[in-house]
Amino acid sequence: MSGHHCHRCGSSLHPGAMKCSGCMAGVVYGATVAEKTRAAKVGAALMLASWCYVVAFSIPAIVTGVLATLAASFLFRIATARSHAGLVRTVIS
Ligand SMILES: [Zn+2]
Repeated sequence: MSGHHCHRCGSSLHPGAMKCSGCMAGVVYGATVAEKTRAAKVGAALMLASWCYVVAFSIPAIVTGVLATLAASFLFRIATARSHAGLVRTVIS
């Protein structure tokens, strides 16, 4: 793959060369270390942000679920008590 030129001195780079033959600058193919580090930080930040979003979303969901369960339990208890209010029974326990 030819046609690459040094961004510092403008010399044409030999395919696969690790250094520029003109100014001896290091040749990086693809992303530089700094770019990869930055990308890793961005990925970690996105993951952290999405994790915080999931936690922030799931805690109200858990609370709502617990409250709904308690409320349903309470309402069913009241409904059962009312439906059996007129009954007089002996219960063998
Ligand atoms: Zn150069």
